[in-house]
Amino acid sequence: MAKPLVAFYWCASCGGCEEAVIDLAEDILKVVEAVDIRLWPVAMDFKRSDVEAMADKSFAVSFINGAIRTSEQEEMVKLLRQKSGLVVAFGACSHLGGIPGLANVANKKEIFETAYKSTRSTVNPKGVYPQTVTEIPQGKLTLPEFFDTVKTLDQTIDVDYYLPGCAPPPDLIMQAVTAILEGKLPEKGSVLTVDKALCETCPLNKSKPDVLAIKEIKRISEVIHDPEKCFLAEGIICLGPATRGGCGERCINANMPCRGCFGPTKEVKDMGAKFLSSLASIIDVDDVQEIERIAESVLDPIGLFYMYSLPSSILRRKQGV
Ligand code: SF4
Ligand code: SF4
Repeated sequence: MAKPLVAFYWCASCGGCEEAVIDLAEDILKVVEAVDIRLWPVAMDFKRSDVEAMADKSFAVSFINGAIRTSEQEEMVKLLRQKSGLVVAFGACSHLGGIPGLANVANKKEIFETAYKSTRSTVNPKGVYPQTVTEIPQGKLTLPEFFDTVKTLDQTIDVDYYLPGCAPPPDLIMQAVTAILEGKLPEKGSVLTVDKALCETCPLNKSKPDVLAIKEIKRISEVIHDPEKCFLAEGIICLGPATRGGCGERCINANMPCRGCFGPTKEVKDMGAKFLSSLASIIDVDDVQEIERIAESVLDPIGLFYMYSLPSSILRRKQGV
């Protein structure tokens, strides 16, 4: 019997989601035995024209990682949507926008000026920037268009399921592949992990006092953290209260606070706003100037509270740039 065809594709991402597939270790043999991988640019030489030549819905499932930043990515995910029965947003960048989504605090002009002109290591006196079309004696060179705004996968195409995480843990990937092969999937639109906050399963939760009250926000690099104590109770920002669990508390177990890569639980619309409101409720200071001083001690609020989720948040991007 013919095996189901599967695609893995990457857009604006770091490559960590591709590593996560490799991290399946010997389980990858079970995947390869059960499915026929027909598109995986990082590992195999299939071309866009091969996909274009396939009948619609030929792929049982496409796993797409990365945010949508360029016209080429937009075209490819639209093509994969057409050719796939199911589309799974794989990893934090396609699910929420991820780290590449933090570029939504700037626009294309600002990004190009920084990357191609103003950095100290760049010499570009004529201000030459990438162009979508460049004429040379041999013909035309083309590049994809670079968009002003980074988008999530579901802001570009219809998405069936989400595999969260930066990167998704191997056990969740295996569970998702098994559920797809066995046809035991939850309702469309589900995030394929638990729907409870990370704090609920965190081993440090037992050290959290019933009433949290902090007088100062500390950076992890400024203190020696007691590995038995809840980060937030010590005044170290941990996004556990606003973040969906299911990662195996990977950062907490490595003695680092959560940064929210699994995204929000179902009830939370905007995880940055949700975390800010939790944080505001535990700051135990009445003096206005003292409150301002504490707020100012958070050096990069967008980078901290929306590290993975800016494009999917209510803010979505900085306005007026
Ligand atoms: S705030 Fe962080 S450290 Fe504290 S219980 Fe929640 S996830 Fe664990
Ligand atoms: S602890 Fe938070 S940031 Fe770390 S893997 Fe889990 S959800 Fe992601």
